[in-house]
Amino acid sequence: MFYKVSKEDEYLFQGKRKRLVEQLRAKGITNQAVLNAIEKVPRHLFFDDTTGRPALLDHAYSDKALPIGAGQTISHPFTVAFQTEKLDIKPGDKVLEIGTGCGYQTAVLLEMKAKVFSIERQKSLYDKTKLFLPYIGYKSVRLFYGDGYVGLPQHAPFDKIIVTAGAPYIPNDLLVQLKTGGIIIIPIGEGDEQEMNILKKVTDQSFEKQILGKFKFVPMLQNKV
Ligand code: SAH
Repeated sequence: MFYKVSKEDEYLFQGKRKRLVEQLRAKGITNQAVLNAIEKVPRHLFFDDTTGRPALLDHAYSDKALPIGAGQTISHPFTVAFQTEKLDIKPGDKVLEIGTGCGYQTAVLLEMKAKVFSIERQKSLYDKTKLFLPYIGYKSVRLFYGDGYVGLPQHAPFDKIIVTAGAPYIPNDLLVQLKTGGIIIIPIGEGDEQEMNILKKVTDQSFEKQILGKFKFVPMLQNKV
């Protein structure tokens, strides 16, 4: 079902991950817990696997967005590192992720000892990742097939919320489901590029907002598929 790598492969990939971490550091990522998590998660196992072997093994540790099936992509390592750093994850934080995809970002959050709840709107990706993450050792994750615009009111409030698809606006339900003092990071924009919005919930009704740079994401779509 899923590809198993040999011990020799593991050493090779560990070396590649160390180099990726150095590249991320050179691009400005400083949070050591984020870099440690990226050094641990076996990114080469997360790609679209229609042949019985993971495709794209050679590209797994280049700083690229790559296909994961169902027309979706795994985010750039820099984007994952950037969003995770801005969330300022502490062990035990309850985090809502919108856009599980292949589960790579989810795994990075789990390595940082967050309690992760993640929503995916495409059934095929949800089904695959629900088997895959526990298979490679991430058993504590809570995955949901649903619509990220609605969030998870039954599990709210959350310390942190991360949206990994480009949204046309900030869904109000997500703001409501954030704890006071909590942080949401969400790329906003409907064209080719999105602006990274970071909002801190200062009081029940007020937010401090920062906009930090342009990124490229697949669109955050309405309703389930
Ligand atoms: N977090 C992933 C990124 C996957 S790409 C990673 O680590 O690489 C974004 C994902 O968001 C896709 O899988 C897409 O199907 C999903 N998505 C798009 N709109 C959504 C919505 N409204 N609710 C939940 N997931 C959504």
